[in-house]
Amino acid sequence: MEREGMEQGHEARNLEPGQIAQNDALSWKHISIRRFLVFFVAVLLLFVLAVGLMFFMRLNSLQEISFEMEEQYLPGILNMQRTRDNIGVLRREAAVAYLATDPKQRRIARLKVQALVAESLFENSARITRLSRITQDLIQKLNTLRGRSEEAASRLHKAELRLASAIAPLRAASGSMRGGFSLGHDFRHVNGASKDADSEKFNGALQELEPLLRFCRNSDLDQTLRAHCTTFAEEMNAIRDSWLEKGEADRMAWATWTKLDNVLGRLGNAVSREEFMHARNGVNAMSELANSLWFNFYIVSAMLIVVVLFIAIVMYRHILAPISLAARELRHIRSGFPARPLPRVRIAELQQLLETVPGLSRYFTELSARSDRLEEEKAKYETLSMVDQLTGVGNRRAFDVRLEKSQCRAPNAVLMIDVDFFKKYNDAMGHQAGDTCLAAVAWAIRASLFRHGDALFRYGGEEFAVILENVRPDQAMVVAERILDNVRALRLPHPSSTASLHVTVSIGVAVSVDCRDISFMPELVAQADRALYRAKTEGRNRICLYKAEKDADISPDRSQKKPV
Ligand code: GH3
Ligand code: MG
Ligand code: MG
Repeated sequence: MEREGMEQGHEARNLEPGQIAQNDALSWKHISIRRFLVFFVAVLLLFVLAVGLMFFMRLNSLQEISFEMEEQYLPGILNMQRTRDNIGVLRREAAVAYLATDPKQRRIARLKVQALVAESLFENSARITRLSRITQDLIQKLNTLRGRSEEAASRLHKAELRLASAIAPLRAASGSMRGGFSLGHDFRHVNGASKDADSEKFNGALQELEPLLRFCRNSDLDQTLRAHCTTFAEEMNAIRDSWLEKGEADRMAWATWTKLDNVLGRLGNAVSREEFMHARNGVNAMSELANSLWFNFYIVSAMLIVVVLFIAIVMYRHILAPISLAARELRHIRSGFPARPLPRVRIAELQQLLETVPGLSRYFTELSARSDRLEEEKAKYETLSMVDQLTGVGNRRAFDVRLEKSQCRAPNAVLMIDVDFFKKYNDAMGHQAGDTCLAAVAWAIRASLFRHGDALFRYGGEEFAVILENVRPDQAMVVAERILDNVRALRLPHPSSTASLHVTVSIGVAVSVDCRDISFMPELVAQADRALYRAKTEGRNRICLYKAEKDADISPDRSQKKPV
């Protein structure tokens, strides 16, 4: 049945592998394993290339951002810091230029302010530029106002001096000690808080000079005093005008400075904000890049997993699964089952491998049959090699094998049997008759052995050996006597024997006492041989039992007394 199934399987796919591949190529698109490998390498290379390109681009932008940070953001931040410091200095110097009482100090501060403004550091943004322009205008205006104030102060000072020289003779003429120098230098330093307050102060001062004014309204004054009074009135007017102008200029300067200070404060804030924006832009750019790198990393990881899974699935489907299939099918065939139809696979080489599997089925069957035949022949030759062809009993080799296999089951016995005067028998009856005689003697000996474990061997020439298992000496002697009797009973005539008229045998018997000695069987054979020698020397046609104590104890058997 199996054979039939196998044949059918072969018929279904009865083409040689090459032919099958060729035929299949028409219906099934195979690719070689080399192309398959090239395909995978190409996929991997493309993947690595894409990943490399992506990271290269990202690294490029990282480098660009780093350059940008180095060349734009950091210098921008430093510029902003310097600008902010300059604005602080500018604000301070503007305050000094406006508030300092020392004109020299004021002038130095003003120069510093002008220098700082001239540097035009505030160009980072439209807002800063606008504010710095306003700052420039305000500073310009403040300078002008301070100039106006100082000019008015100077005029006031000169008018005061002229007033002083005019009121001295008037005071002497009027005899009034009042109307001192209340309008002195202190009045130049008005704070310009309000025009009304200034006027009030000025009117208060005029009251101090009221006695002199009344004196000048007197119509009795001489020419000289009249001229002094005129000067007095003119200078008073000049003082009032200068004083009011100075007050006006100071008020405006105050307002301008307040505005300037405010603008500079805002400018400082704008610069700080701009500086912060610069720093934040740089940090944002880095952070965005880091985020995009993380995103790319996730994408690449996901793609890598997909690619690895794809390769694993394709490898399993097109390489590992066909190999596994081939292995399973080979096991199936090795177990003695017929080959089954196999599905086609994509890789050409694997397809060819699968195509060879059904062929192997036939090969395995043939091999198994041949192996069985060989086993049979081997057994046969082994049997033949152990059997003596002439007598049909075990030969010397079989005897040696049996000795080796003998187990320690005491007591064992060995009987060495030798045909008496066989040379003479040959001489008298011829070799052919000798052979017949030997076969007959062997038959007679075998007929004397009853137990299953007893075995007969042709020891060599006309000598035989018998092994008896698990016997006592007296039982061994009984067997030996039976042999002796059975050979005698053949009644083969032996004209040349001096021991008898017929063919007889001599037997040496040895029975083991202690089988634990490793050489007990060869030793037993030697003992039996010595007993045989004794039987021969004592006249043949008899049995001798070997006894261990001394040679004398190789006792002749009573069989010698039996008449033949
Ligand atoms: P003994 O009584 O002392 O044993 O004398 P023997 O003549 O039997 O012993 P010997 O060893 O002198 O001679 C043995 C002879 O047996 C010599 C040989 O020709 C003969 N012989 C041995 N094997 C065969 C055989 O297979 N066939 C024949 N026909 N003769 C054999
Ligand atoms: Mg002999
Ligand atoms: Mg002999």
